[in-house]
Amino acid sequence: MTIPIAVAVLATALLVLGWALAAWAVAQWRRAQRDCVAATEALTQQQHVSQTVAQVLQAARVALWEADTRGVFTRVDDTAARLMRVAATDLVGVRRVADTRDADHRDALAQRLADVLRTGRPLVRWPNLVVTAQGEPVWVSTTVVVRRDAQGRPVGLQGCDQDINTRHRLMLSLQAAERRHRLLTEHAQSILYTIDSEGRLTYVSPSWQALLGHRPDEVIGRDFRPFVHPEDVPLCEDCLARTLRERRVLPPLTYRVWHRDGSIRYHRSVLAPVFDDDGRLQTVVGNATDVTTDIELRAQLERVATHDALTGVANRRLFIEQAQREIERNRRNGAGLGLLMLDLDHFKDVNDTHGHAAGDAVLIAFVQRCRAALRPSDVLGRLGGEEFAAVLPQVSLEQLQAVAERVRHEVARQPYALPDGTVRTVTVSIGAAVALPAEDSDALLQRADRALYAAKHGGRDRVVLDPTAPPPAPAALPPFPALTRR
Ligand code: GH3
Ligand code: MG
Ligand code: MG
Repeated sequence: MTIPIAVAVLATALLVLGWALAAWAVAQWRRAQRDCVAATEALTQQQHVSQTVAQVLQAARVALWEADTRGVFTRVDDTAARLMRVAATDLVGVRRVADTRDADHRDALAQRLADVLRTGRPLVRWPNLVVTAQGEPVWVSTTVVVRRDAQGRPVGLQGCDQDINTRHRLMLSLQAAERRHRLLTEHAQSILYTIDSEGRLTYVSPSWQALLGHRPDEVIGRDFRPFVHPEDVPLCEDCLARTLRERRVLPPLTYRVWHRDGSIRYHRSVLAPVFDDDGRLQTVVGNATDVTTDIELRAQLERVATHDALTGVANRRLFIEQAQREIERNRRNGAGLGLLMLDLDHFKDVNDTHGHAAGDAVLIAFVQRCRAALRPSDVLGRLGGEEFAAVLPQVSLEQLQAVAERVRHEVARQPYALPDGTVRTVTVSIGAAVALPAEDSDALLQRADRALYAAKHGGRDRVVLDPTAPPPAPAALPPFPALTRR
């Protein structure tokens, strides 16, 4: 009985164990199946992620590659092959990464890759030029890190080249444009500036300092008015206002500007209004050139053309012009006008005795003495040789005679010191005439000349007055008697 029971128990135990084993096996199988599903899902997920990453990198034109410790490609992705326009097989195990660059960057990249391997420090976004198999240079931004084995030992490099060709070329051309602009503004002989509608200088080029002494930061943001001569400020204000109103470039404007040292410079400016696409005013651009030398030169030329080089008085042409102007004025205001013709006596003898230089010295001193005896408003001119004339506005016949006597006396009063160390007295003969109402300059000069001729013939060193005098101005009419009511 004991044996069958034991067998039964054993059989039961074996059965239970069998069931348990079967259940465990089923559980294990199920878990394995679950793990397998999860792993498959994870793998799918991972594949999806890496696919997405690859797409993104491709879209961003980022080429991935790996290289060994010598810098020779060991792996390249499609983008890398596409970027360099070669089959991956022509790169992997064949070419060094640095050899895909242009001559200027090849050695520099090789050096940098060696540094990355040596120091472990990554190379980050270094701009350099890849040259495609067709020889076309393409700007890339290269990033490289060290590739390590499971023990952390460096076994090579991992890198990427991002295609930045369009952006980088744009940046280079912008930099070139900026450099060109800076060179132009820094070395321009004229001042470039911008000014707002209120007259504030919003920018001035560095040339301001060379031309006017102030540093640009002392000027930018300030009103233009204190820099311009007060008499010319309205002119400049008007030009700015018209430029804004008429929205066009007006003819150049010449005005005076203060240099920092207090001196005056002449500038000539052109203003150009600048509008945005909607026609709104953005700013006004100005270009000012220093024309001081031109203006001074022109003034000098004008002076040479209109003044006597030896004595500095008006030459014949200018004198006649001025005499005509005064005659016109006299006709309008009837204030009286006198004319003196002056001729040095025996002047030839001065030259003959003491030399031409002595004659010149006498002419200069003679003019000084005449000026001393005339009023500042009187016009003195040299008609030629030792012959001079003076126009005296606002004089009567008597006053003219008195002035003429004063001149004669002043000329003869004191001997002239000559360059040869001697002294000599010089006298002058003067013919004087007062303008008649309808008389022109020729007629007046003729009458004064006749009087001079008479003075010469009368013995020289004298004044002869042409007696013709203008009729007295009509006396002012007495006021009407007040009307009185009877
Ligand atoms: P008169 O009293 O009649 O006027 O005699 P004059 O000697 O003054 O007149 P004349 O016309 O005979 O001589 C004028 C001289 O003036 C002759 C000429 O050489 C001289 N002369 C003219 N221009 C100049 C000049 O610029 N410099 C010098 N040194 N002499 C001049
Ligand atoms: Mg003479
Ligand atoms: Mg003469």
